[in-house]
Amino acid sequence: MKILCIGRNYGEHAKELKNPLPPEPVVFLKPDSALLRNNDPFYLPDFANLFHHEVELVIKINRLGKNIEPQFAPRYYNELALGVDFTARDLQDELRGKGLPWEKCKAFDGSAVISSFVSIDDLPDLNNINFKLLVNGELRQKGNSKDMLFDVNQIIAHVSKYFTLKIGDLIYTGTPAGVGAVSIGDRLQGFIEDQCFFDFLVK
Ligand code: ZN
Repeated sequence: MKILCIGRNYGEHAKELKNPLPPEPVVFLKPDSALLRNNDPFYLPDFANLFHHEVELVIKINRLGKNIEPQFAPRYYNELALGVDFTARDLQDELRGKGLPWEKCKAFDGSAVISSFVSIDDLPDLNNINFKLLVNGELRQKGNSKDMLFDVNQIIAHVSKYFTLKIGDLIYTGTPAGVGAVSIGDRLQGFIEDQCFFDFLVK
C-alpha cells in the first residue's frame, strides 16, 4: 500500500506557514514504513530538531481505480480515520530552500500515525466533520472538513490522474492551523467529534 498526503489543504494552515493557497492539491507520498499504529509511541528521531504535529482526517481506499471522476469518487472509500503527519519542520525548510524533495522531512519511520477506522456510513456528513488534537490535555489544533480547500472527492480525482489507487491505500487530507512542536514526554490525543481515536506518547 501507499500513503498519499495533501499539503496546504486548509487556508489558515497555509497562512501560518506563509505559503500561498495552492491552485491544485499539493501531493506527496510516504512509504508504508512510515505508519505508526496501535497508539505506539512516537520516538523522536535524531536527524532534526523541530518535529511538528499535523492532525489530519485520513481516507482509506477500498477499490482499484485510476482517473476517477469526482462524482464517482465516493465509490472508492468507505472508512475514515484520524492521523498525524509528523513533519521535521527545520529539515523541511532546509530542503525547500535548496529545492530538494521532501521525503526526508515527511516520510521517515513513524511519521504517519494512524488510528482505527470508522465507517463513513456512521457519520452524518463527510463534509462537516469536527476533529481536534490535544497535547498534554490542551487543545492545539481543531478543524472541520468543510474548510478543506479540496474536498475528499476532488482529492481522489486529482491524485488518481497520477497514481493508480489500490485497496488499502491511505490519503491524509491535510492539516488545519495550529501545527506545533512536540517534545519527549508529550501525550497526543486525537478526536473526531467527541470520540478519541488515538492517544499516544512522544518518547
Ligand atoms: Zn500534513
